[in-house]
Amino acid sequence: MLEFARTAQCIAETASKNEKTATLAAYLRSLGDADLVPVTRYFTGNPFAQSDERSLSVGTRTIVAAATAIWGIAPGALRATYGEAGDLGAALGSLLRAPLDLGLFRETLGPASLMLVLDAIADARGKTAARTRALLCERIFGACTDPLEATYIIKIMTGDLRVGLKAGLVIDAIALAFERDPEALRRAASAAGDLGAVALAARHDTLADVAIAYHAPLAFMLATPIAFGSSFADLNEGAWSYEDKFDGVRIQAHVTAERISLFSRTLNDTADAYPEIVAALRGVRAACILDGEIVAERDGRVLPFRYLQPRLQRKDASPELQAQIPVRYVVFDALAQGDRSLLDEPLTERRMVLAGVLADAGERVSLAASTSLTTGARIASIDAAFEAARERGHEGLVFKRRDASYVSGRRGKRWLKLKRELATLDVVVTGVEWGHGRRAKVLSDYTFSVRAADGTLAPIGKAYSGLTDLEIAEMTTWFLAHQIRSHGRALVVEPEIVIEVAFDIIQPSTLHASGYALRFPRIVRLRPDKRPVDIDTLERVTELYDAMLAREGVAP
Ligand code: AMP
Repeated sequence: MLEFARTAQCIAETASKNEKTATLAAYLRSLGDADLVPVTRYFTGNPFAQSDERSLSVGTRTIVAAATAIWGIAPGALRATYGEAGDLGAALGSLLRAPLDLGLFRETLGPASLMLVLDAIADARGKTAARTRALLCERIFGACTDPLEATYIIKIMTGDLRVGLKAGLVIDAIALAFERDPEALRRAASAAGDLGAVALAARHDTLADVAIAYHAPLAFMLATPIAFGSSFADLNEGAWSYEDKFDGVRIQAHVTAERISLFSRTLNDTADAYPEIVAALRGVRAACILDGEIVAERDGRVLPFRYLQPRLQRKDASPELQAQIPVRYVVFDALAQGDRSLLDEPLTERRMVLAGVLADAGERVSLAASTSLTTGARIASIDAAFEAARERGHEGLVFKRRDASYVSGRRGKRWLKLKRELATLDVVVTGVEWGHGRRAKVLSDYTFSVRAADGTLAPIGKAYSGLTDLEIAEMTTWFLAHQIRSHGRALVVEPEIVIEVAFDIIQPSTLHASGYALRFPRIVRLRPDKRPVDIDTLERVTELYDAMLAREGVAP
């Protein structure tokens, strides 16, 4: 793995995207097929394919214990290096020593053989699973010969390489390495849910054969927010339709004769939580992948998101809960039908297929209504349509370009969402503080961050919790169990909890590392459906700031 580590380090050291992709491309080209697949996956930050539901399930504690046992690390040594490096891989890797017990035979690990050990870690089950995982970690660390190698293996195990490579750049590198069209690669990556398999297909020129992987979730296409008062300039070009913006949970349904999966935004299968939707989808005769939103609905009227919440907290739904909170799956897109991928088809074609597919679905599944936006008198008609959607109990509108393909995993300008607030940001909580008065015994003050271009987290504000007392109490327990260090009344916590914050305006600020501050930030809700990788970026904050200035007539 030393060659892998040297390449990763080289990629980390340059800020130039072109250099990063060129270095990775040269390395990918040099690998045999068996190593090409895991290496490509490692560079996406996850040792397993996106379509693979497994995770490594080894925590920091197991990794540290295994490294300590094998390398004989002195107590306190890690604390010192961790403080300097701020990254477990770098901190621990630098402490590598010759294994205490050399034994007769020293294994060396290449990308493919490391993958076998990681597979075994993920597959460990039963009472002895923790012990098995610990032994396998020890085996990995016993095979490390160089601090840089150890550093990057630990980074793979903790799921963050931190070399400034997003999946998009890895795709560009594959394209460069094997001289293929990046768009064809992107499509294959969406269908297969595994960049490793795509790299192999790119090398052997078999991209067209990459099949749709049913029951492996595809990344969702997302909408970009637009604001009232922006004159809706984005809508002037091309033909658009609009739909209600449903306030529920986004669900991608995979329907085959054998099985029905309902993937949430976090790409977990939540089929057990919505048995009535699964039953309704059994009527659908064609194998298909659908995209839509599950909403709470009573007597034909959709209910606000908070009514749905009790169902989100449960992995299954009792008949009582189903009766108490009835749900409906409103479907607005079709991504595949049988062996045919619809991702490259225009929205109009996908909707046509969708209408046919849903004809046989049960009562609790319906087709989302879609209306074409007429040209001329647009602003007035948008205002009226927005008010009508609000009247029906929806959050607002989503505008969709009728000729646009389904761009999996992207927040593009082909889908635009219109809500009432200026904007909200999805951010991750990076610090918490004990409250005051009534809240002195709970961690109620949250410092939160957005993601900067280099992948680091940039703090942008602090909010006093707008959550319920119960949520605050539950979060307090979580934060206490996941603190990284504490400083008087403040705790630095693992960046895992995603929240949605609303605010009045964005201001430049020297107070926070992001260079901005939000005025009157308030927590709208916890977003357990989103992962830390889904949070908003500093780039989007800058865009919002510039748009705000432009609205006020000041040049950004
Ligand atoms: P937000 O949750 O505020 O980031 O809004 C984006 C989300 O709106 C999407 O991820 C979907 O879950 C949801 N959504 C609601 N209605 C639609 C629709 N008609 N088309 C696409 N996305 C929708």
